[in-house]
Amino acid sequence: VIEIGQPEHSVVTTCAYCGVGCAFKAEMRGEEVVRMVPWKDGKANRGHSCVKGRFAWGYTTHKERILKPMIRERIEDPWQEVSWDEALNFAAAKFKGIQQKYGRDAVGGITSSRCTNEETYLVQKLIRAGFGNNNVDTCARVCHSPTGYGLSQTFGTSAGTQDFDSVEDTDVVLIIGANPASAHPVFASRLKKRLRQGAKLIVIDPRRTEMVESPHVKALHLPLMPGTNVAVLTALAHIIVTEGLVDEAFVRERCDWSEFQDWAAFVADPKHSPEATAIMTGVNPNALREAARVYATGGNGAIYYGLGVTEHSQGSTTVIAIANLAMATGNIGRPGVGVNPLRGQNNVQGSCDMGSFPHELPGYRHISGDAVREQFEAMWNVKLNNEPGLRIPNMFDAAIEGSFMGLYVQGEDILQSDPNTKHVVAALSAMECVIVHDLFLNETANYAHVFLPGSTFLEKDGTFTNAERRIQRVRKVMTPRNGYADWEVTILLAKAMGFEMHYNHPSEIMDEIAVLTPTFTGVSYAKLDELGSVQWPCNEKAPEGTPVMHIGGFVRGKGKFIITEYIATDERTGPRYPLLLTTGRILSQYNVGAQTRRTENVVWHAEDRLEIHPHDAEQRGVRDGDWVRLASRAGETTLRAEITDRVAPGVVYTTFHHPDTQANVITTDFSDWATNCPEYKVTAVQISPSNGP
Ligand code: SF4
Repeated sequence: VIEIGQPEHSVVTTCAYCGVGCAFKAEMRGEEVVRMVPWKDGKANRGHSCVKGRFAWGYTTHKERILKPMIRERIEDPWQEVSWDEALNFAAAKFKGIQQKYGRDAVGGITSSRCTNEETYLVQKLIRAGFGNNNVDTCARVCHSPTGYGLSQTFGTSAGTQDFDSVEDTDVVLIIGANPASAHPVFASRLKKRLRQGAKLIVIDPRRTEMVESPHVKALHLPLMPGTNVAVLTALAHIIVTEGLVDEAFVRERCDWSEFQDWAAFVADPKHSPEATAIMTGVNPNALREAARVYATGGNGAIYYGLGVTEHSQGSTTVIAIANLAMATGNIGRPGVGVNPLRGQNNVQGSCDMGSFPHELPGYRHISGDAVREQFEAMWNVKLNNEPGLRIPNMFDAAIEGSFMGLYVQGEDILQSDPNTKHVVAALSAMECVIVHDLFLNETANYAHVFLPGSTFLEKDGTFTNAERRIQRVRKVMTPRNGYADWEVTILLAKAMGFEMHYNHPSEIMDEIAVLTPTFTGVSYAKLDELGSVQWPCNEKAPEGTPVMHIGGFVRGKGKFIITEYIATDERTGPRYPLLLTTGRILSQYNVGAQTRRTENVVWHAEDRLEIHPHDAEQRGVRDGDWVRLASRAGETTLRAEITDRVAPGVVYTTFHHPDTQANVITTDFSDWATNCPEYKVTAVQISPSNGP
């Protein structure tokens, strides 16, 4: 029995875990959270929550949280606790010294999709205006950067097209590369409700996910081999075009007709037939036909996708192929349809919106555009560099080559999250100053020279933007235990570097964002407090926001069909590495577990396991619960085996929540051709019995 006291007051805020963005009432006694209660007026969750959000306050008071700044000259030295002033001056001196020695471009930073819009905006401002270069990237690089590329190319906007309410009008739900039952549970409940009401479900996934196994839901499951998304989507397009299922009126009115004709001729080629595709992908040709017909003719068709789409060498191509399908069938621009990326972290959408990419200022405007850059220069009172900066993998390569020596990482454990851990270690070890700004001494901090304690979502004001572009308030419920909210630390670091930024409250940062970002001109804290939330674009044309985009016309004008040639990944199986590893999540844990493992959620998850088909297990003498050695061309780790036919023969699957597993020791350097998003979802591996770690 857990004894809980009576709350004295409550504060409405937003969950800091996944991209659903559930609103909660934090019920408080003084500065102590008594419980988190899902808020009935939350427009993303309508009074519901999952097991992660309910216990989300636990890590704020966890004993392992670091509350004092620390510095050290070399990573071999012990950490030394110092004052904030001393730590910030030490960091600034190091970064200034690096720039004097190696040049202006030798430092950069990484923004966090866990932090608020305002904090992310300030980090990119510090880098562009304070460091004087555009070496800013975001942890979205490793998850949804292909979404930004693919949707802006085809529709003109780097965001999902619908609100969550739209699912109420959906007749066919097509889920590809996502498992919302585990990763976006509150939205999954709404999906399941609609499916129980009769909507049809198509799931394209190598694994039989919880969505496929949901009771009372009959799913058409297309279990493809990892890495073959583009081939399967092109086969669906082939069937739609060759069977005359295209919505020609929509395409003629809304899209570039000549580009459509080129695309239709491409997909109609017999090499994309269901039979030819089955050989490449392992998907039954009749299942492909049924899926294409149901999606094209079943009424309102909505596509939802996740990292199983983006984290591939053809991640951007896959997003484009999805957009092509939606346009060809007229499934865009009204409630119930659309293309909907399910964002992993709470503020992936926001961190991308706020100019965290090295080539884009806030609002996705290219840094080389003179008029836009001049607007920022006038507001920030600096001259900005017009050359795109380095992406995260380029920063690592440049560090190993000796030209990138200083990195500021806010709210992201890059050592645990980025692929090919050995390469990341080599890069971090080569740098002269790594500043980690986080809650806990994470794996990256092992290679850091400065540790700046971070604040949790309960200790700050700000906003998060969820997967449906909904901007919601984050409200401070307690004084930061470390002394400063993250936005204040960035201002102090900028000052120590010689670049002054003056804000008394995050609402003033949002006011500046609204002036500089056309999709945010109508956003203010006053409006958010009045309406509860708004979905961008929120401006003169849409003062209360935009739930569904591309109604009556695409943001880019005509919708653009782009040919998507399937190119198999270079990550191949062979006699030495005969199985393909793919990865996912479980319900009770969030990402690398840094937060959820420090809450009550820990009781639901002790370790990551390797799912292996009975046939593959028997061939290798592996029994359920045995330790196995999992090795790839990049590295190896040890896990317990779980024998299950949820995965097909030839495919193995694990989660990545526990640092002991080190799943990214295994993953390779291959990445998306357009955005460098790592190919986490396909790794050739071998498995052998082991005695344990
Ligand atoms: Fe909602 Fe996601 Fe938080 Fe769960 S983790 S409560 S679904 S925002």
